[in-house]
Amino acid sequence: MCILVLFGVSSVFSQSNKKQTRNGEANFSLRLRGGEVKLVIRNETDFKEWDKYASEKTKKVLDAYESYLGITFQQASSPIFKTLPSSEKDKIRLVLKEAVLLNGTRVGGYNNVSGELGKDLGIFMEIGLVPPGYPALLLHELGHYYFTEPAWLSEGIVSYLPYLLSKRGYLKLDPDELQSVMEEWTLSEPIPKLDPPLSQDFHQSNPSLGPWFYSKSVRTQFILHKELGYEGYKSFLKQVASAEILNTDSILRILNKLQRKDWNKILQGWVLPGPYSVYPVNSFLKIQEIEKL
Ligand SMILES: [Zn+2]
Repeated sequence: MCILVLFGVSSVFSQSNKKQTRNGEANFSLRLRGGEVKLVIRNETDFKEWDKYASEKTKKVLDAYESYLGITFQQASSPIFKTLPSSEKDKIRLVLKEAVLLNGTRVGGYNNVSGELGKDLGIFMEIGLVPPGYPALLLHELGHYYFTEPAWLSEGIVSYLPYLLSKRGYLKLDPDELQSVMEEWTLSEPIPKLDPPLSQDFHQSNPSLGPWFYSKSVRTQFILHKELGYEGYKSFLKQVASAEILNTDSILRILNKLQRKDWNKILQGWVLPGPYSVYPVNSFLKIQEIEKL
C-alpha cells in the first residue's frame, strides 16, 4: 500500500475554471507476455489527452518489468487479484482527478488496487502530480503490482526501477520523463532530527517524515545494487518478486544466500536500528554516484 503526500511538485495542470466533471471511463486492451490485460481509465479532469499517454506508459513499463524480471504481470499480480472478484482479474484501474482525497484529507495520490482502502479500486492520482511527460508517480504505482511488502523495500524498488530499466535499455523514457523519475526520489530532503530506521515504517506513524522515508528507501536500493552488482541485484529483485510473503528477516535471508556479507552492518541506520555504519547518511545524494552503478 502506498499513500502519498506530495505537494512539492507544482500543479501545472490545475485549473481555475473547472467544468462539470465527466465520469466516463476509457477502456484499453494491453497485450502483454502472459496475455491480455484490461486498462480502465476514469479521467475526472478535462485533460482527456492524458488517457492515451497513460495507456502507452502503462504498456511500456509493464513490458519492461516483464522482460527484465522474466515474470509476467499475471504471475506477479496474482496475490493481489486472489482476494478480489474474478471480474477484476487482470484489470488495471487508473483514476485521474483534480484533487485526491482520502478520508477527507488531500493526499495527492494513493494506491488501492488491493481494496484495503475501500471498495473504490484503483490507482488514484492528481493530474497536477502526473501530467503528460511527467510519469514518475504512474510508473511508481504500477511497479507495486510486482512489489508490495515490506514498504521499506518495495517503495525504494518501484521508485528506482524505472530509472534502472531506462538506463539498461528496457524502458524508453525521454530526458524529461527520466528527470521526473529522479525528482521523485526526494534526494534533497533534509535529514530530520528524528531519523528512525526504515523497518519501523515511520511514514505511517509520522506522515511529515514521508519524503524522508522515500529518500532513504530509494537510497537503500542504491546500496543493495552497489553491494550485489548489477546481476546480483537483478537476481535479488527476481526472488523478491516471486516470493509469496516477505518480511525483513526473509529479505536478509535472500541477501545472505546471494552473497555472504555482514548485511546487518551494511543496512544499519538505513533499515535496521543503530547508527549508520558502512554507508553514512549522506550516501548516494549525488546523481554521479548513482550513474556509476
Ligand atoms: Zn508506493
